[in-house]
Amino acid sequence: MSGIPAPERFRAEARDWLASVARPRPADGAWGTGDDSVAVFENWSEDEEREHTERIRSWELTRFDQGWGALSWPEEFGGRGLPVYYEQLYRQEEAAFDVPRRTEIFPVTQQLVAPAIRIWGTPEQQERWIRPMLRADQLACQLFSETEAGSDLAAVRTRAIRDGDNWVLDGHKVWTSGATVASWGVAVCRTDPDARKHAGITVFMVPMDAPGVTIRPIRQMTGGTSFNEVYLDGVVVPDADRLGPVGEGWRVTLTVLAAERLDSGSLGLANADRAIELARHLPRPLTGHEQNLAADLYVRTLVQRIIGLRVTAALVSGREPGAEASVGKLYATETMRRTSDLVLRLLGPRLVADTGEWGAFAWTEHLLGAPGYSIAGGTDEIQRTILSERVLGLPKEPAR
Ligand SMILES: Cc1cc2nc3c(=O)[nH]c(=O)nc-3n(C[C@H](O)[C@H](O)[C@H](O)COP(=O)(O)OP(=O)(O)OC[C@H]3O[C@@H](n4cnc5c(N)ncnc54)[C@H](O)[C@@H]3O)c2cc1C
Repeated sequence: MSGIPAPERFRAEARDWLASVARPRPADGAWGTGDDSVAVFENWSEDEEREHTERIRSWELTRFDQGWGALSWPEEFGGRGLPVYYEQLYRQEEAAFDVPRRTEIFPVTQQLVAPAIRIWGTPEQQERWIRPMLRADQLACQLFSETEAGSDLAAVRTRAIRDGDNWVLDGHKVWTSGATVASWGVAVCRTDPDARKHAGITVFMVPMDAPGVTIRPIRQMTGGTSFNEVYLDGVVVPDADRLGPVGEGWRVTLTVLAAERLDSGSLGLANADRAIELARHLPRPLTGHEQNLAADLYVRTLVQRIIGLRVTAALVSGREPGAEASVGKLYATETMRRTSDLVLRLLGPRLVADTGEWGAFAWTEHLLGAPGYSIAGGTDEIQRTILSERVLGLPKEPAR
């Protein structure tokens, strides 16, 4: 598969292929029928999470094997070497088909971890991990945060001590999304407690089924347990599974975090669109205030999409988007909040109890889940600090 097809041709080919392997989604206009889930975090049991993960995995496998996965990756990794924005063209076409909705662990593996391995991994590590991750044979979670190291991630205390050709890891990670379904964890560890805070860090790839790894799901207020505590007790990791040089782990970590911001820009858009539809279909006239909220949300969705296009434009021109990515993440979390505000006004007491009414109580899963994204992947306050320091050039926060 060489040569870059024109966007329209590419979209038509994608549509044809999708039609050959998936069913089209029921035509819209059928408001009040079909799936009314607007869950930000799925309310699944551990078994259900595994089951859904398998379904998504099998879809990812089909995509990859038939040349519709890893579109922007070079051919040596099983990709098609297309410009990054072809991924978005493909996603737009895919949205019209009934395919499994990807959970967070998939973008984490394919958009965050695999690119970090490409940048920091040895040729052997790239060979070993990238293709299986792009194909979703192997999934990876982020073993970053600890109870005393979240916004100030460089304060990690999980220790890795060298023992011949191995390292021995001891520590406690928290808020690890997808730990129960991941085969690998990317662990940020302290290897030199005497070095300057950011200098004493090294990153390791930890098999999640290694002896000494214990996973404890955390019950969230949405009902599900999509994130977990992970205990590392004397976990032995070969030096061959170290990602990046010893003491350079902070730079490896920043690679992953930057990709995470980049990946967050489209968050919340689908639910905002749905909330505006809800306003359109309400069986009573809107109050002036509700109209204002709905109009404001509509404008926000347009602006957020434009910010997304700027990120794409930066990528297309070979420039790493910096500010756009932080603006996009901040904007997305505010969109999620304002979606909650509008829905609260529109549905009021119908949110309190599940009467079985289509598209009513289901919104509680947005209301309770949305605040999580103001925290995940760097809190709103931290995004603002990044913008003020790196974009506006304001004085830096005092070093911690
Ligand atoms: C849905 C979800 C999924 C997550 N998934 C993962 C995962 O897979 N892997 C992982 O490792 N972690 C994960 N996390 C953890 C996440 O990265 C951290 O929660 C986040 O970085 C914030 O850290 P913290 O919770 O320790 O809060 P803290 O850092 O303690 O912050 C507490 C409050 O203080 C504010 N604050 C802190 N420092 C400053 C400052 N310098 N200036 C201004 N305000 C400040 C923060 O904005 C926040 O409001 C997830 C979190 C959520 C909510």
